[in-house]
Parts: sequence; C-alpha cells; structure tokens
Amino acid sequence: MVLSLDAIDVVKEPTFPLQQRISLAAFTSYRVGGKADWFTLPKTSSDIAASLQWAQIHELPVTFLGAGSNLLVSDRGLQGLVVCTRHLRGVDFDETTGQLTAAAGEPLPNLAWKAARRGWRGLEWAVGIPGTVGGAVFMNAGAHRACTADSLMQAHGVTLAGDSIMLSPQELNFSYRTSSLQSKLCMVTQATFQLTPGDAVAEVMADTQAAIAQRRSTQPYHLPSCGSVFRNPSSHKAGWLIEQTGLKALQIGQAQVSPMHANFIVNVGGATAEDVLNLIRSVQDRVQDQWNILLHPEVRLLGNFDGPQFRTS
Ligand SMILES: Cc1cc2nc3c(=O)[nH]c(=O)nc-3n(C[C@H](O)[C@H](O)[C@H](O)COP(=O)(O)OP(=O)(O)OC[C@H]3O[C@@H](n4cnc5c(N)ncnc54)[C@H](O)[C@@H]3O)c2cc1C
Repeated sequence: MVLSLDAIDVVKEPTFPLQQRISLAAFTSYRVGGKADWFTLPKTSSDIAASLQWAQIHELPVTFLGAGSNLLVSDRGLQGLVVCTRHLRGVDFDETTGQLTAAAGEPLPNLAWKAARRGWRGLEWAVGIPGTVGGAVFMNAGAHRACTADSLMQAHGVTLAGDSIMLSPQELNFSYRTSSLQSKLCMVTQATFQLTPGDAVAEVMADTQAAIAQRRSTQPYHLPSCGSVFRNPSSHKAGWLIEQTGLKALQIGQAQVSPMHANFIVNVGGATAEDVLNLIRSVQDRVQDQWNILLHPEVRLLGNFDGPQFRTS
C-alpha cells in the first residue's frame, strides 16, 4: 500500500536531502512533466542507502532519474520517491590499465572531453549525448556506430533493498538501446570503461569536436527534446520513414516533429507531456498505415497518462 503524503513525518525521519512536490519539468530535457511527490539528489553512498531505506519503510515506489534526457514524464507527475543521480560526480583515470571509472551522475559529454584532453580514445561518440553515465548504461546509449556496450567493463549498482551489486557486461545483456536493467529495479552507482590511452591529443580532440559539430548541424539541439524518439527498425532509419510519410513539422499542441530531423519531437514552447505522447502516437499510426512498420519508441514513459499509450502492436 502507498502511504499518503500526510501520513509521513518528513521532519523526523529523513537523514538525506529530501524535497517534496518538486517539478520534474526542470529535470527533463523535454522541459515537461508534473511534480514528484518526493525528490532527492543524493551526494554520497550513505545518502543513497538512506533514501532507499526510507522509501522501503514507507512502501513508496522509487524512480531513478539521471539527466532526464530520454524521458517523457506525465503531466500528473510521479508518485513515490524520485532519486536523481546528478550530484553523484567523480571521474578516475587509471593510467596503468587505461580504464576510466565514473560516478553515475557524470554527464557523458564531460567524460568524452576529459578523455579526449588526455588523448584517450573510446568515448568520442558520447560527446553529443546529454545523458549521465547511469542513464547510458541503462539505455546502452550510443552514436556514430559505437555504444556503451563497446567499452563498458563493469558497473556497480545498488538494489532497492540497499544491497551493493557488481554488474558485468554479460549480466547487463546489452543490445540496441537496451540492457537488462530495463527489466529490474536497480540503481547504477558507477561504471568503468576500457579506453585506449595515447598521446595523439590533437587528433582525439579534433574527432570529438567533429562528432559534436556533425550532430549540431543535423539535429535540433536548440529546442527541448529527448533526442531520437523511435528506435530504428531493422529495415530503415526511423527518421527517413517519418520524413517520407510527410510528417516533418506535424504539430499537436506545442509538440512538433522537428523540420530539421524527423526522428526528433521538439517542445516548441509550453508543450505538455500529453501533447508529446499524442504526437508520438499519431506518428506511429501514420507510419504504420503507409509502410506497415510499427515504430517502437526509444523514449521512456514515466507516470500515468490519459488516453492511448504507445502502440506496441
Ligand atoms: C539532444 C539529445 C540527443 C540525444 N542523442 C542520443 C544519441 O545519440 N544516442 C543515444 O543513445 N541517446 C541519445 N539521447 C537520449 C539520452 O541522452 C540517452 O538515452 C541517455 O543515455 C539517457 O541518460 P539520462 O541520464 O538522461 O537518463 P534518464 O533520461 O534520466 O533516464 C532514462 C532511463 O534510465 C534510467 N536511469 C537513469 N539513471 C539511472 C541509474 N543511475 N541507475 C538506474 N537507472 C537509471 C531511468 O530510470 C530511465 O528509465 C539524446 C537526447 C537528447 C535530448
């Protein structure tokens, strides 16, 4: 049973930084979403342990949030406790092994630039992905024909019961934008990547710069979005299918299929999550009608929505 907010004595119990009724629009790249009943930004492992224990005592559901760059959060918000990893920071380079270990809340672009400044190869692809390390492991984020799974050596996590676990690449069972974490509730706390150290700093910097320049010239980075909305089906690129269906610039409310890149749905100012979901659904319907191909969303829905959800068949 989920307790009502009033039933919890907030003042006495938490020993970690806890906030109530926080707008999640400020914590998602779409800039939409209602409020979290409870919200915490842990800074230490004891904050994490205390927050998970607190949620367990009060029988509250827990949601993990990184940079919120692959999420559509309901306008009605989220029940329970949202644990946001953004304050979990730290990067360590091991010169002997060529391994980089980063805390869950480190932004991927930071890692890419830090590695490039040392001349270490292996994360140039990540420079344009505005997510965290934890979100990248969860999603097997990738770009430029590379992905998290290519260099991830291991991740550390914590279960809802507070047990520390080590996750090997085998256990993470990565495939295209998927990991085993998508079917279990576990928080990634840090991850270790195998990189290739070298002294060609200028070249690695130039490749990293080229990766971000290429994306900025082809994708609508100037407007709030979640990146690619749909996974690419095996036969075609999702963006190409949407564009060929004539859906560029299609708009519902303040959500629009980007005229710059058809696999992006952008918030042109004041969109609701419902606008975005209705547009996603409309794109799915129209692409299916024309091509008999069902586009599967890459973006993840959090919370309850009125009306139709994503089409799954
Ligand atoms: C402009 C733009 C461009 C993008 N380009 C790309 C791209 O090229 N390639 C690509 O793959 N993605 C891309 N994305 C999508 C997004 O950045 C990635 O999916 C990223 O990995 C999500 O990380 P996040 O920290 O934002 O996760 P969130 O969006 O916060 O969360 C995503 C999921 O991961 C879970 N999660 C987050 N952190 C943790 C954790 N520590 N432990 C357990 N679960 C966790 C959440 O519960 C949620 O289910 C883009 C997004 C934008 C806005």
